[in-house]
Amino acid sequence: MNWRESARCRGVDPELFFPIGSGTSFPTLVQSDEAKAVCGRCPVARQCLDWALDAAPVEGVWGGTTEAERRVLRRHRA
Ligand code: SF4
Repeated sequence: MNWRESARCRGVDPELFFPIGSGTSFPTLVQSDEAKAVCGRCPVARQCLDWALDAAPVEGVWGGTTEAERRVLRRHRA
């Protein structure tokens, strides 16, 4: 996983990427959006997303997606 060396989230509080609470609560959505904003500026977002899709299920925001969003992507892949 050499791509992690170029991750934009290096140096960012890891807890940002693991929102606490239900998937649709306001604080959870706000935290997820903040994490996704970091991912949106990440040069290895594609590699990160591919890893998270293959490693399923994994909690948290990876590659700019939540696990719920990745479940949908996996269904489309199948
Ligand atoms: S896409 Fe997001 S979670 Fe993945 S390495 Fe980049 S910043 Fe970190």
